[in-house]
Amino acid sequence: MSENDGFISYELQEFKLFEPLFRWARKKSLWIVAFCTGCGGIEMPPLFTARYDLERFGMMPNPAPRMADLFLITGYVTPKTLKRIIITYEMMQDPKYVLAHGSCPINGGVYWDSYNVVKQLDKYIPIDVAIAGCMPRPEAVMDGIREIMRKIETGEADGWKRYRENYEWYRKNQDELFGEGWREKDAKRWLAWL
Ligand code: SF4
Repeated sequence: MSENDGFISYELQEFKLFEPLFRWARKKSLWIVAFCTGCGGIEMPPLFTARYDLERFGMMPNPAPRMADLFLITGYVTPKTLKRIIITYEMMQDPKYVLAHGSCPINGGVYWDSYNVVKQLDKYIPIDVAIAGCMPRPEAVMDGIREIMRKIETGEADGWKRYRENYEWYRKNQDELFGEGWREKDAKRWLAWL
């Protein structure tokens, strides 16, 4: 399958000339999908309020995945949450970026031996920048955000392309964890409650 089959690509040949301009514009107006996991959820409001103020970077939390391009994974992820993360990530449009903070998404953190915490998040969705710490200080999170802005400008933040190109591998890992057909089974589970 060629790179553009079945996708509206933002890197079509005719737009290549404008790519540096697009990248600059993307890094200056990152909208965050408002999906908090783990303890980091409580660290988000201070980042957006008067003391640290992420809005000066053009960032804004947004409840709709379709309108957001940055996914913050803010702490430990359970398999149940991971299903929602994967579905939300796939609903976001390209180009999209993932920033994980806290040690839990990197290696399970203090829950390294828990049966119910995903130990290595980037086996299931691609991470562009990860910040260690338990919990990282807001300054560290802002450092991570500046790093992802730098990577967007240079084109190094390419997780969305890796997900597309290596979809079989990600899909295999997801199926190994949840069992094949998990999307359909999960959708049916909720029908009983309607
Ligand atoms: S890294 Fe620490 S603060 Fe973050 S989710 Fe894990 S236990 Fe909580």
